[in-house]
Amino acid sequence: MTTTVLGVPDQINLDYAATAPCARAAADAVAELLPWYGSVHRGAGALSQRSTLAYEVARQAVGDFLGARAGDHVIFTRNTTDALNLLARALPAGTPVVTYGAEHHANLLPWPVGAVRLPVPDSPGAAIRALDAALRQLDAPALVAVTGASNVTGERWPVAELAAVAHRHGARIAVDAAQLAPHAPIDIADLDLDYVAVSGHKLYAPFGAGVLAGRGDWLDAAPPYLTGGGATRHVGAATHDVRWATGPARHEAGTPNLLGAVALAAVCTTLDPTAVQATERALVARLRAGLAEIPGVAELRMFDPGAERVGIVSFVVAGRDSAEVAAELARDHGIGVRDGLFCAHPLTRRLIAEAAARTGRRDLPPTALRASVGLGTTESDVEALLSALCR
Ligand code: PMP
Repeated sequence: MTTTVLGVPDQINLDYAATAPCARAAADAVAELLPWYGSVHRGAGALSQRSTLAYEVARQAVGDFLGARAGDHVIFTRNTTDALNLLARALPAGTPVVTYGAEHHANLLPWPVGAVRLPVPDSPGAAIRALDAALRQLDAPALVAVTGASNVTGERWPVAELAAVAHRHGARIAVDAAQLAPHAPIDIADLDLDYVAVSGHKLYAPFGAGVLAGRGDWLDAAPPYLTGGGATRHVGAATHDVRWATGPARHEAGTPNLLGAVALAAVCTTLDPTAVQATERALVARLRAGLAEIPGVAELRMFDPGAERVGIVSFVVAGRDSAEVAAELARDHGIGVRDGLFCAHPLTRRLIAEAAARTGRRDLPPTALRASVGLGTTESDVEALLSALCR
């Protein structure tokens, strides 16, 4: 089934990596449920019963989309940031964390002080070797936290190989799939991952739901992420007399975001990530080739130019302030891109410096531009950006 998205005529949206437009399937699913909207897990009435069922069916659909195994928990959160913070809170005491300096802040900042931050690698192979060496040094089983695809360069990380290395050392791996899941298949079981985090709003499902999916044992043993109604099995009169639920409920206290979950599930049941990947490959190849022809434009990258990537390209225009370029693209051409350091400050600064060294240009700006594509992006959108940049 083809998934289509909502949009506004005359606006060329090339900012999918920040927030993707709403899939029609998500909008339709929400519209259909709205008359029945009621409390989840709390009422005997028909509306509540239907809403509860819709919420749990959504959990199953999202878990299936992510390849969750029996025994994995699929926990609804607000977004990827929330999902990774939840996992950080559930880390067993003394678990070392290993991550890379290339991460989005959401996968850099929630981890305990003292987490090992491996240097930005210059190839997927270097990432694997660095992880192997780091895990060899540790004397306790670690959690490896890594992105599936960079939100700055779109480059994909070798998550299956990193998972194999992690497991060889008795470690677990969590993948920040915020940018991978909208563009390519991700399957927890096939890739042998332990945890995956995604954001609905990047997956064509607004309404504010994200997900942490993965192994249940740490999550069931951890203190509840939020405490309150819904997370308990028993609450007695004494303050210490509380027994917490296990399973997703343990970390989902309070009334959940039913519409967010249903919207995300609607996308998960209609999106074909393999087809998306094929279409986006062609768009990104044209975008990168076009950018390479514009004098003074330098692409940001960690790996070789041929490395596998999703539909995201960041670049700088020599001698031009990135915020000004982005504002001109919006004002004069109706094109929306992102500018800045993309919540990955250490990585983006470093890649701009590397681009300066590679091109020999000393007039690169301190921040960058990012164009990102997805469902509904056309070749003419890409051509419009290229010709606007040329001008
Ligand atoms: N990880 C990556 C790779 C991202 O691109 C983003 C969003 N830019 C996040 C995490 C955080 O996502 P959210 O803001 O939805 O929590």
